[in-house]
Amino acid sequence: MNCPICKRCAWATDLCPQCSHLKKTGTLSDSDVEVSRILHRINETHNISEAHLSRTIPFEGTMLLLTRSEPGILIGKGGKVVAAISAATGKKVRIIREGRDEKRMITDLILPARLLGINTRFHEGGQSLVLRVAKGDRHKLFVDALMIKSLIKDWLKKDIDIVFE
Ligand SMILES: [Zn+2]
Repeated sequence: MNCPICKRCAWATDLCPQCSHLKKTGTLSDSDVEVSRILHRINETHNISEAHLSRTIPFEGTMLLLTRSEPGILIGKGGKVVAAISAATGKKVRIIREGRDEKRMITDLILPARLLGINTRFHEGGQSLVLRVAKGDRHKLFVDALMIKSLIKDWLKKDIDIVFE
């Protein structure tokens, strides 16, 4: 399993000097540590040794898990793995495949609402993204549009507008 903390720290209650250093420099967050430890425990009963976790983003009652492996590994058969992560963190969990494909990441983020497209809007001093979401799917967003905007801004460092059409 590939996690933000080392295997030693996954089973300890403290952090080794290397992991502590990552924490001090801001590369490693409390939720990265928490979820990494949870994943190691889940791996004891469900085989998720192929799983990869890049980082976690806690957001309100939701925990986003960014992975570079197939998201299905962290979802598990019938959603068993994701349910176990959710039970252990006490939050709703969403698994998002991290990659260069911004569109796919955003699609995963807003599921089951449908993303009709992403437009780039250029303006003085930069550019922003306009997410076009199906009007009838507004109620399917797991958090409201404002939260998605601030989440994506924090994550992709881009300004976002969401239009429902
Ligand atoms: Zn460590």
